[in-house]
Amino acid sequence: MATVNIRRDVTDPFYRYKMERLQSKIEGKGNGIKTVVANLPSVAQSLARPPAYIIKYFGFELGAQTNTNPKDDRWIINGAHQADKLQESLDGFFSRFVLCKDCKNPETVVNIKDGRILLDCKACGQITTVEIRHKLSSFVLKTEPKGGKKGKKEKMSRRDRAKLEASGENGSVAGTSPNDSNEEQDLPDDDDAEHEIAAGSDDEFTKQINEDAKHIETTNGGPKADEWQMDTSAEAVAARAKNLPSDLQRSLALDDDEDGEANGHSIYDEFGVWIDEQAKEKGGVSKIDDVEIYKKSADLGIEAKYKTLTVLAQTIFDDEIVAQIPKRAGMLNKMISGQEKHQKAFLGGIERFVGNDHKDLITKVPQILMTLYQEDIITEEIAKPWCGKASKKYVDIKTSRNVRQAAEPFAKWLEEAESDEDSDDE
Ligand SMILES: [Zn+2]
Repeated sequence: MATVNIRRDVTDPFYRYKMERLQSKIEGKGNGIKTVVANLPSVAQSLARPPAYIIKYFGFELGAQTNTNPKDDRWIINGAHQADKLQESLDGFFSRFVLCKDCKNPETVVNIKDGRILLDCKACGQITTVEIRHKLSSFVLKTEPKGGKKGKKEKMSRRDRAKLEASGENGSVAGTSPNDSNEEQDLPDDDDAEHEIAAGSDDEFTKQINEDAKHIETTNGGPKADEWQMDTSAEAVAARAKNLPSDLQRSLALDDDEDGEANGHSIYDEFGVWIDEQAKEKGGVSKIDDVEIYKKSADLGIEAKYKTLTVLAQTIFDDEIVAQIPKRAGMLNKMISGQEKHQKAFLGGIERFVGNDHKDLITKVPQILMTLYQEDIITEEIAKPWCGKASKKYVDIKTSRNVRQAAEPFAKWLEEAESDEDSDDE
């Protein structure tokens, strides 16, 4: 069977992602004329999407009726449609519902969260959104519970339940029912996050969130109405992002797009924009509650992602950063939970914060690092090599050199502390 690159704009014959060329056949006459897409299941499999999504997409694009659940695997579009027209339409489906909006890789997983369709990219780690106004989006949302998410969710619930039992708490913590089938249908989507929290440690921050989660569960049982009304279209987010400090914009997908088009926006952009707006509304970053920030990240499905830490480092502090770090330590520790990648991403955000937008704070770099270290947000294993070598991953190399040079007193202190320890041991 002839194969084509699933991104037809990529002409490289060695491009990894291929699929069968779409095979279609026009059958019947007059009013009964129809187009049968013979190998739709195979094409759908290459794209890791249900065939029903694709046939439905054709239907919407071509303004034709389709069958979305054929018993005999005969996928039909009413009317006569030429193969090249279908292939063109399929390209649109890829770019809208498969390709990562950030890196254009097709290895994405569809996640549905709060009435939004998210593409979780296995290649670059970004989570981008699918345009919700496309007709297929409502179809995807409507058909979601039967989809692939179930397995993952059930696994999660079971694991969480095990954890709950282990910690001696009962299943009512996050308002869950012990009944499996109820759980699948009745819980709001953001419940995963609340499960995690309910099952986790019992530090102050966790307790606070649990209280909040219970409250939401009893009063509402779903996402807040105002969250639904937020305009999350690419244009709206891009417009909001323009008002952000330059160092934050750098983290956004807006100027990151390899094709130079600003068509995609990421969930991280949205998160950063949200914090920025909250700060403006409340009259300062310190006024935004940790729990609110955490919950927003959970709503967006990025509470456990390392890139979230980069956004946080750039948005939750101002000139008072040294005093603000200990106050945010509970949340930061929860979200970093000792992971190296997360610590590095957080330091990357700090580097942007002091290197680009708050250059006057560069003299405070040793204090900032010292506080992060003392609050156990950053470990010695990560801090030491970080201080020792500049990198152009988050800022330009010159800026990075400046920041890391400014960190020298802290690096020196770390070394001395270590040799003190050594001599104590002897
Ligand atoms: Zn990607």
